[in-house]
Amino acid sequence: MAELSERMRAYVQPHLANIEPYDPNFTPCRINLSANENTYPVPEGVREAVDAALAATALNRYPDPMSEELRCELAAWHGVDPACVCVGNGGDELLFNFLLAFGGRGRTLLNCPPTFSEYEFFAQLTSTDVRNVARDRKTLAVDERATLAAASRVDLAILTSPNNPTGDVASSSFVAQLCRAVDGPVMVDEAYIEFAEAGADKQALLASCPNLVILHTLSKAFGAAGIRCGYVIAAPDMIEVFSAVRQIYSVNVLTQAAALAMVRRRDAFTPVVEQIRAERARIVRALEVDERLQIWEGQGNFLLVRVPSASEIRSRLRDEYSILVRDFSYMPGLADCLRITVGTPEENDELLAALAVLINEEA
Ligand code: PMP
Repeated sequence: MAELSERMRAYVQPHLANIEPYDPNFTPCRINLSANENTYPVPEGVREAVDAALAATALNRYPDPMSEELRCELAAWHGVDPACVCVGNGGDELLFNFLLAFGGRGRTLLNCPPTFSEYEFFAQLTSTDVRNVARDRKTLAVDERATLAAASRVDLAILTSPNNPTGDVASSSFVAQLCRAVDGPVMVDEAYIEFAEAGADKQALLASCPNLVILHTLSKAFGAAGIRCGYVIAAPDMIEVFSAVRQIYSVNVLTQAAALAMVRRRDAFTPVVEQIRAERARIVRALEVDERLQIWEGQGNFLLVRVPSASEIRSRLRDEYSILVRDFSYMPGLADCLRITVGTPEENDELLAALAVLINEEA
């Protein structure tokens, strides 16, 4: 990754001097199982509906700032008032705006690593301090006691459920306790919730936890990472904050049109999600016979695998098989861990065959 030039280090705000342009570490590959995208074909009829919606969208007008039509459709789906929903340019924008609005200098974010690295990045951008409460070294589960103990001294918190990259789901009782313990907003990032067991989502807690914010995205279950669309569900006064800090036209007309067409056809995605869950279980069954591996199946569209010589295996998967997975070895607590996105049955077959060869050669 490239550091900023000396000249730019002097120009930028002091807290940004060590910032580096994002490098997704992406190599074009035949099979890309590295970014937790949905690699399945778009369900029948959905692409046609999206294309028709895009074709009917005027490009000369500014977008509706709050994506009203989409917002109402999302609200109807989740059974909440539209005033409880704010749409964003991907979940990332909403995460950034969460830190922008509620974090900042002198404020502290509670974070439970290993988890999605963007939280700390956005904290850095917004000069927010981070109080990291590490997950259990062995199980990688949240240390609930230590997290709750830290909660009274922070200003905001983010918890990921299912967590990326460990896949575990937070319990409702823990989230409720956390919401009571933090004197400030608590975001539960449910980017992968559609892949989890029924009832794992925390929306029911909104009634009793007015400081809870739930983050969703169309990038995973809807297979729409390219259109950049996410949304938060929270109490109306919390949504007003998201509305107030957002860049007015961040969700463009094409994104709004495509997202609306997809969300209206949400039932068509159910079989895809079910197949991904079944494939996830199949990959686990295939891998768990090898005692050299440690597997966290979790409830997302991915699994985490600890394998001896993980970095070598990841490079050889890429270079010899053109299969890309994500190496998390660099992350504290995740030595020798690879995160593998669940692909189509054919992709998974290829991955399993390649892994079997490489593990025997490297491990
Ligand atoms: N939260 C988590 C846990 C994620 O893994 C991701 C994407 N990798 C996001 C949020 C953001 O997704 P997007 O910006 O594509 O909506």
